[in-house]
Amino acid sequence: MAKEKKLTTAAGIPVDDNQTSLTAGQRGPTLLQDHYLLEKLAHFNRERIPERVVHAKAAGAHGILTITNDISKYSKAKLFAKKGKKIEVLGRFSTVAGEKGSADTVRDVRGFALKFYTEEGNWDMVGNNTPVFFIRDAIKFPDFIHSQKRDPQTNTRSDTMQWDFWSQVPEALHQVTILFSDRGIPKGIPFMNGYGSHTYSFINAKNERFWVKFHFKTKQGIQCMMQDEADRLAGQDPDYHTRHLFEAIKKGDCPKWTFYVQVMPEKEAETYRWNPFDLTKVWPHKDYPLIEVGEMEMNRNPENYFAEIEQAAFSPANVVPGISFSPCKMLQARIFAYADAHRYRLGVNFERLPVNRPHVEVNNYQRDGHMRFDDNGGASPNYEPNSFGGPLADPAYKEPPLKISGDADRYEQKRGVDDDYIQPGNLFRLMPAAEQQRLIANICGSLGKTPKSIQEKMVAHFRRADKNYGDGIATGLGLK
Ligand code: NDP
Repeated sequence: MAKEKKLTTAAGIPVDDNQTSLTAGQRGPTLLQDHYLLEKLAHFNRERIPERVVHAKAAGAHGILTITNDISKYSKAKLFAKKGKKIEVLGRFSTVAGEKGSADTVRDVRGFALKFYTEEGNWDMVGNNTPVFFIRDAIKFPDFIHSQKRDPQTNTRSDTMQWDFWSQVPEALHQVTILFSDRGIPKGIPFMNGYGSHTYSFINAKNERFWVKFHFKTKQGIQCMMQDEADRLAGQDPDYHTRHLFEAIKKGDCPKWTFYVQVMPEKEAETYRWNPFDLTKVWPHKDYPLIEVGEMEMNRNPENYFAEIEQAAFSPANVVPGISFSPCKMLQARIFAYADAHRYRLGVNFERLPVNRPHVEVNNYQRDGHMRFDDNGGASPNYEPNSFGGPLADPAYKEPPLKISGDADRYEQKRGVDDDYIQPGNLFRLMPAAEQQRLIANICGSLGKTPKSIQEKMVAHFRRADKNYGDGIATGLGLK
């Protein structure tokens, strides 16, 4: 039998009684002197940290990425250096719009956030289960999220707000089509793909730059949940996906994904028919085929959800030498926004929490701040330049310069009038007829609750993507 542990206060002082408070006489009142009771209640009041504005509800697990292919001609990142190499990874899989207690089986995009603890620091791949997004310029992001969240008066989710926004932002059509397709409700976390979505860059040992997209394809196969089943489970078992992942890993049925990249030589971005930095577009596989990199397995449940998943802080700013950014306007903003959110949620020293701490030494001149709970740099110098052996930057990590041109201005990111419609149309056309019908029914179920003027605007957009798509929705809505 495990040795009995002594109950203590937070200061380590043994506690004599955890069931009855200290009172004046048998009936009370309670004495202020019962500092253990005060500490217990005060700590309880402070248990919740601000929940994420988006991606609040999540499941998570630890795992391993095994490198299966040599891609060193594209990236000098040491994590890719050798076939057979294993890198520890943390995964967090979330819904987007719902709050922390919301149901898992709702129709929503899923977050697919990975933290790779590499020998050159943490690489965070903070993606989704969709290869594109609703918007391509971050200046629209707070408005977009407001339209997906709660009505300011009724505090309820509103189909009208959602479709009102989408009807005026046609670049959303591609992601809207994925959201209302079967893939909008995965059967479980193991049955969905993950995508980096943005274009990133690779830099090789010759300091050549390539543009790159990341794909994690499920080895369990894509499996989706039908709307009626999802609705039933949302009531009966709102934590269905979270429980399913935990139970699967617990019984050794560990989900796996194959990690692929699409690679575009730097120069080709100038002439490629799609703007390769537009987050509402994919790169067709026939133009840029998938190149295998590795296999990822999620194989260890967290011991403590709050410590390992709620406090996990992912940031697209965390890239390691050999992986870098692109001009994608959404990525540029996320480089700022994620760490900023974590400083607010977790405090300025969030990277020092055990789950976020890199598995390599951290040496810098940052000191102090709320909850600095390590040795705070000890006696080492806290300024640079210094003459006392403080850490130094290494110019060997400098990236090749990136050529840019043009005037500073506010630009629409289009190449041709039908730019927002071709890829959603391609997606509709590749779906089997039965899936097209379900897509149309799912859209009508939601769009049907909005004013006719919004329905008409949306039908016009769907028709531009594909006539059958738009006509199907018009018929479903009873419009001409
Ligand atoms: P590709 O042949 O290059 O891409 C087809 C891809 O579409 C498949 O590999 C699969 O991606 C995905 N796909 C297949 N069926 C469905 C479905 N029912 N719902 C959602 N995605 C599906 O052709 P294109 O590049 O021209 O792509 C056509 C459309 O496919 C795009 O407009 C895009 O919406 C979608 N797509 C493309 C991806 C890409 O990277 N090119 C990735 C995902 C979707 P996967 O194997 O990743 O599931």
